[in-house]
Amino acid sequence: MNTARTYRTEITLLVALAASAGFFGYLGYGLLELPTPAVSFSGDQAMIYAEKQMSFGPRITGTLAHREMGNWLIQDLSGNGWDVLIQPFRVPAGVEARNIIAVNGSGPALILGAHYDTRMVADSDPDPNNRNKPTPGANDGASGVAVLLELARTLDVSSTNHTICLAFFDAEDNGRIPGWNWILGSRYFVDNLDTLQRCQEPRYTIIVDMVGDADQRILWEPNSDRALTETIWAVAEQLGYGAWFVLEPGTALIDDHTPFLEAGFTAIDIIDFTYPYWHTVEDTLDKLGVESFQRVGATLEVWLESGAAAP
Ligand SMILES: [Zn+2]
Repeated sequence: MNTARTYRTEITLLVALAASAGFFGYLGYGLLELPTPAVSFSGDQAMIYAEKQMSFGPRITGTLAHREMGNWLIQDLSGNGWDVLIQPFRVPAGVEARNIIAVNGSGPALILGAHYDTRMVADSDPDPNNRNKPTPGANDGASGVAVLLELARTLDVSSTNHTICLAFFDAEDNGRIPGWNWILGSRYFVDNLDTLQRCQEPRYTIIVDMVGDADQRILWEPNSDRALTETIWAVAEQLGYGAWFVLEPGTALIDDHTPFLEAGFTAIDIIDFTYPYWHTVEDTLDKLGVESFQRVGATLEVWLESGAAAP
């Protein structure tokens, strides 16, 4: 199936509609040409969102810094006009955690997810003396959240024809630690979908994780739905990002998309797992790039605002 062609047909229709509504200000293009779709997402602003998260310090589930960061998240989302649901739960170690879900729009649900906690130990650090220290979580934590927050600020939700659910998952990143596990927040979310009203029947789920690396290379995560991956990578290609969104198989991962896949939903993980600072004390802001944020955010925005074209 040629998903690229399907997408172009839909985009052409969209452009015709948008141009007739005066949405595109470009006068030099005829209707048969494809103008660059209008993008509101700002990589600079996403970087500011990442910096803000880092200013709290490591966001380890159960700590005051993490709680305060979550409060800021709720405030920012509410301030941008989103309805915010809090989903509290307790991890096996007894620590209180909470998923934060922002909802906007109407129609079938689309879930965009990211984890907002950071790993309590940098146990992949090359220096054994660092392996009991927390990871700062610039790329692994802050970057995915930054993309979702910037989408919350800029997305034209009505043109997506969907209910957009931004899921900020807690307790994703403490696997292999007694009393914890990976993906506790997204598991709780999927196990309790029936309580999530407008988000309970997701048509698609898209996780963004580790998307801010300045040296970006986003491969197809092989557990992720192939057709949906192709659809979104085709949008990236159309925006000129084909060198960074590569349809080769990367590392198969357990991440917040896993509980959705296990429950039979269509889900993908947009993740750049070619990041040498993963779970080290070097996962810091200086490794991130504004353009990397821009590529991921613009791709998602354009796909979403085109009505979230089906594979
Ligand atoms: Zn991690």
